[in-house]
Amino acid sequence: MTTIYQYLKEKSYYDDRYDLWTVERCLRSIERWRKLREERFSEMKVENMTDEEKARALSLAAFQELYFIKGDQYKDRTSTINKWMEKDRKLDDKLENTKEPAGIYCPICSTKMNSILKQFLGTEDPLRILFMFECPSCEKRESLWEDGKPWIYERERCPKCNKEVKVGYSEKRNIATWTKHCSSCGFKEAEKEDLKQREAERKEQQKREQDLLIKHRAEFCLSDKEGEEYLEGIRRLESLTELLNEMEKKTSDPVYKEAAKLKKLSVVELEKLIHEITEKEKIHQADI
Ligand SMILES: [Zn+2]
Ligand SMILES: [Zn+2]
Repeated sequence: MTTIYQYLKEKSYYDDRYDLWTVERCLRSIERWRKLREERFSEMKVENMTDEEKARALSLAAFQELYFIKGDQYKDRTSTINKWMEKDRKLDDKLENTKEPAGIYCPICSTKMNSILKQFLGTEDPLRILFMFECPSCEKRESLWEDGKPWIYERERCPKCNKEVKVGYSEKRNIATWTKHCSSCGFKEAEKEDLKQREAERKEQQKREQDLLIKHRAEFCLSDKEGEEYLEGIRRLESLTELLNEMEKKTSDPVYKEAAKLKKLSVVELEKLIHEITEKEKIHQADI
């Protein structure tokens, strides 16, 4: 019998993964603006702006960024989740439908061997499937790729004398141990891992993620209604900008032209401030 691992998970797994990504993006953005305001507010010098105006511009920029992150994440949510699920579904299909190489006989006793395990192995794209065969008569095992080519296992070498080392693995009272031993020069190495602790850390991480979702999902992950409103708003903004540009080109009214110029000035001023902030942020991040 062949063991098959299943890649495709419940839809809720992908929903959680995507929403967790959104929550973390939003929290990072909030944290970044908070730090900026708390630590470097006084360094930011903008002509013709009082501290109060500067603080307001900062809040506005922070609010805007969060608004666009939330909207952006909503816009791509369905397509991204579909893509993830499709990828896993394809892996399952390939794993299920790839037939083992035919006519494999035991190199020792010539009995026909059975396939006992198939799995994806390696990281190259496209992923290849490796089959493990076992001889029902003498229990000899062999690993072959889906195209029948033998799996060539790169043996580990001794860091001291470069001869092949013997590797071992054991589990005892929840402690996993990997060993290396070189019979040529006597080099020995052992690595241990506490399996109970690893499992506890995994659970803790899972709990942390679940808590984040419970606490922030409703706040940062837009509902369909909110998301559609956002998309509609973006569409309107785009057509409004287009319209304003058109009007500006066509108009001969000097008062309107003055007004348009004024509006541009304040936008330029705000952009200057945000640019200054982000530039400083970049420098600050480079320092770390
Ligand atoms: Zn055999
Ligand atoms: Zn050695």
